[in-house]
Amino acid sequence: MRMSAQVSDVLIIGGGILGLSCAWSIASSAPKGCRITLLEANTLSSGTTSQAAALLTRARPSHEMARLVATTFDAIDRLETELNESLPLRKVGSLHISTSDLSNDYLTSTESAARSFDLRYQWLNPNQVQPLSPWLKTQKIKSALLVEDDGYMDPVQLSQAYASAARKKGVQIIQGVSIKDLLVSSQGIQGVLTNQGVFEAPQVVCCAGPWSIKLLHDYDVRLGMAAVRSHYWITEVNHALFPSHAPMVIMPDINAYARPEVGGLLFGLRDQQAVYAFPDQIPASVHGFEFDQDPTGLECLEQQWQGLSDLFPALNDIGLAHYISGISSYTPDGKPIIDETSISGLYVATGCSGGGIAISGGVGEAIANLVLNKTTIGSLETFSINRFGAINPLDQAFMVTCALARSQKKSG
Ligand SMILES: Cc1cc2nc3c(=O)[nH]c(=O)nc-3n(C[C@H](O)[C@H](O)[C@H](O)COP(=O)(O)OP(=O)(O)OC[C@H]3O[C@@H](n4cnc5c(N)ncnc54)[C@H](O)[C@@H]3O)c2cc1C
Repeated sequence: MRMSAQVSDVLIIGGGILGLSCAWSIASSAPKGCRITLLEANTLSSGTTSQAAALLTRARPSHEMARLVATTFDAIDRLETELNESLPLRKVGSLHISTSDLSNDYLTSTESAARSFDLRYQWLNPNQVQPLSPWLKTQKIKSALLVEDDGYMDPVQLSQAYASAARKKGVQIIQGVSIKDLLVSSQGIQGVLTNQGVFEAPQVVCCAGPWSIKLLHDYDVRLGMAAVRSHYWITEVNHALFPSHAPMVIMPDINAYARPEVGGLLFGLRDQQAVYAFPDQIPASVHGFEFDQDPTGLECLEQQWQGLSDLFPALNDIGLAHYISGISSYTPDGKPIIDETSISGLYVATGCSGGGIAISGGVGEAIANLVLNKTTIGSLETFSINRFGAINPLDQAFMVTCALARSQKKSG
């Protein structure tokens, strides 16, 4: 007997933070009766979302990016109201420090971004930094800017909040359904073929994270992004060195960031060599995946040890309890892709370049406006799918370009 197709008005591929935020945002503005379905191959937020350090930094040199993050903070407030519970947003602030003249521009542009978004911020002297972040060797610091309104939040809990609020608005979320093919006609997208039959819909939003590259490439939709390594370590617990109220610390001179993590310090280093994976190397589950280059991250740690331990001398004595190596979907300019594709009715939201948790609210809102044909405040041109010209995401040289965008990232 032939299984009959399930029919929806909007179908979302992927139950990571972006799929869930899109589902919630679309359901928030859609006309009554709009049938929205989200399909996730594994379990919700088990993909790259589960690996995030989840820094939510708002003061960004790009106004468009800063606006996406601001919308996430608004979304968190709205989710708390809709769910009638408080979410574990740790509003500890972000401390941006320079240890050389090279990062002066970075600090000044962060300050002007904070000012233009009306965020609370202040310049601190080393004596003021010490009690906030006892692990930092403050003699090395030339200037320090504290953006007080920033914070971090468990990425799985934020995703679950989007999911619960979306379900309350009637979104159907189905796990264990893997999209095998897109159903495309001359009119545009018609739906998807999955391991559980056909799901029809005239509008489909692809939020399949790094898996999107291959899924869409088969239909000649070329996403300008690559699967690039993001990784961090977590030290052993030391409450005196890493108090829970300590701010996140962004260290552009040494390509590093840090934040407290249950009594230890979580610190991430941006690879200075290109570390990336080919799309067909990405397994269904990202956990335990090792990149071909420097698979254990030790080369990177050794290379950047001196700079890091100059600022964090206790690193020479304290143990490292955990190492998390994850996959980020990086574009050459470090900005996401939020757009309708060349297939009518097929949209894409991915390429978050290590910032998908922070921008999740803004991406959801932008996709909802596209799908529902509403106006977005500000232009989405910055995030257009065609902005990189004729690229081939399966070309190794292009992947290196994307990986270098990560190496050069300075902000949180
Ligand atoms: C180590 C690390 C640190 C990070 N730190 C930060 C940070 O500090 N701040 C920040 O904002 N961001 C950070 N990020 C980035 C952030 O994790 C990502 O940008 C974000 O999680 C992307 O979410 P997503 O929904 O696009 O992807 P994912 O969470 O990967 O979701 C995609 C989903 O699609 C599903 N899927 C794929 N193919 C199919 C298919 N064919 N059928 C059905 N389902 C499918 C997958 O199973 C998966 O669940 C970090 C990332 C890493 C790896």
